[in-house]
Amino acid sequence: MRYPKDVEVWEHAPGKKLAEFVIRLKNEKGVLAKCSQVINDSNVNMLTGFMTAPGRSSTATLSFFADVSESPDGVTGLKRALQDLDVVVSVEAIAAESGFMVDRQHFPVQWAGRKAVVLRADAMNEMLNRLWAVFGSGAATIIDQMAEAMGRHSAKEIVEDFGAKFAMSQLDELIGTYSALGFADVSIERSKSSEFPMVINAKELFECESNAKLKLHRRSAFFRAHLRGFMSNTFGRDFEVNEVQCLTDGDEVCSFRVAVSEPAASVAARMSDRTSRASNL
Ligand SMILES: [Zn+2]
Repeated sequence: MRYPKDVEVWEHAPGKKLAEFVIRLKNEKGVLAKCSQVINDSNVNMLTGFMTAPGRSSTATLSFFADVSESPDGVTGLKRALQDLDVVVSVEAIAAESGFMVDRQHFPVQWAGRKAVVLRADAMNEMLNRLWAVFGSGAATIIDQMAEAMGRHSAKEIVEDFGAKFAMSQLDELIGTYSALGFADVSIERSKSSEFPMVINAKELFECESNAKLKLHRRSAFFRAHLRGFMSNTFGRDFEVNEVQCLTDGDEVCSFRVAVSEPAASVAARMSDRTSRASNL
């Protein structure tokens, strides 16, 4: 089961008094329970929000929109009550009377500690479709180069952050990033005997879903090249990625065969060399 992940951008509740709270907390057990109790006692209803509590940080942040319409002490009362808690470091609160408010307390948006920009899939598809419209079949090369560079860049950052050995050992988890970021709902299939080739199933892949709706028989150009760039820089060697089945051909899911870009014989020779070296240890 997968659940949608909403990025907090705005809240719209006509006729309600809204507020947005940003609470800095000690990153300890039980802090959320203490805050929740105070929020409940203030008769405030928590709406969409998020919590950031990195395992290696001593502080956490709890951010949420709230309906304060029925709170007798309102935004100021709840802010004061939260500040009195020993687990709270600071509280920021902004109120809106109109029943609509945009999150203006968080910037930059980031993931993995790096600045990010959130684009809707429709906007991304519009950009790709413009390239196809302007450059015709030449768009394939532009998108391929662009996406491969992006995939390579992502892998480079991961290798810088975690090291190449860790990145290679956590490949299945890292491929899951495509799901976490909304590209597609991905899963991996591989044989028991070897790591590659492997097949990555990309359910609801954003670009093929759009092409299928437009009745375009055009397989993925962006995701395929991004994956190739990502794999190549993670492993420090060239990979080939081919889309072997696709939504735009009437298949239920898009599937990508990911293989090392060199003759099978030389891979087998290297694997056997690696095995014999391991057995000599
Ligand atoms: Zn596809």
